[in-house]
Amino acid sequence: MKVGIPRALLYHRYGRFWEEFLAGIGAEVVVSRRTDKVLLQKGLSHVSSEICLPIKIVAGHIEELVGKIDVLFLPRLLWLEDKLYACPKMIGIVDIARMMTGDRVRVVAPKIQGSLWLPHFRAGMELCHDPMRVARALTRARRHIPVHDRTPLFPDGEKRVALLGHFYNIGDDFISRPMVDTLTGHGYRICTKDELPESVLRSRQGFARSIRWVYERELYNAFRFLVDKVDGVCMIVSMGCGPDSLVAEFMRDEAQRRDRPFLQLVIDEHTGTAGIVTRIEAFLELAERRQARALQISDSRLKIGGQGRAA
Ligand code: SF4
Repeated sequence: MKVGIPRALLYHRYGRFWEEFLAGIGAEVVVSRRTDKVLLQKGLSHVSSEICLPIKIVAGHIEELVGKIDVLFLPRLLWLEDKLYACPKMIGIVDIARMMTGDRVRVVAPKIQGSLWLPHFRAGMELCHDPMRVARALTRARRHIPVHDRTPLFPDGEKRVALLGHFYNIGDDFISRPMVDTLTGHGYRICTKDELPESVLRSRQGFARSIRWVYERELYNAFRFLVDKVDGVCMIVSMGCGPDSLVAEFMRDEAQRRDRPFLQLVIDEHTGTAGIVTRIEAFLELAERRQARALQISDSRLKIGGQGRAA
């Protein structure tokens, strides 16, 4: 039996777990190819132009798989711990997939509400009917669930920028490659939320407590943690994404208060590489000027301190 997984959205966090789990229960796993313009174009013909880019992209991946698979594996994430919900568009992608595929493909969509295990076990049983085999496959595959418990180092003198955005945007080269290449090309280390420990991302302190969307809370917590450790913050926001645009405004305010350059890059299917590069270069210039100003101030403080002691 051929089971297809779209290389989009949650795949960028749980993809390896799903692949090993499905292979473990005897499925032939088919993952759609990497996002490209043709694939995006396929997605555009199935969803409203108003919807955000990641949903347009996943629609393209689903269409790409139809005809090559027997089953589409598309978990529906409702909420994770602390009853933090996924955004409605992400929850609704299973319904979009069912409308797109009709009776051409069977859709298996475990509903995740808090725990990953029981829904995946049930989905495995739908596909292989052997509880021991499903349990074994799940146990083996769980090592691929990303767990971060170490805090990265932030050495003095290093040029760093926080590149914040949903893991399905940063993890998709088609979206993030121009940003990553421009930042690294200018000698900056890129810090993302996915390298931060769970203890930071899950924090409920301050404004984070009021955020009820699971991935927006992660983004905001990552911002709070990184903002004073980097030369600037660059936030990728999908056009038409309500949660992102709201949280990004709070970040922008806070970055301004802390005198950190903040760049909000709004992306959709029309976004061109040249525009992104130009905006990032202007942002880096600002970050460098700010850094030079800060060095000047600290130099003059040192001189004043030295004169005071000499007197
Ligand atoms: S959080 Fe935003 S970008 Fe992500 S699926 Fe929802 S609307 Fe789209």
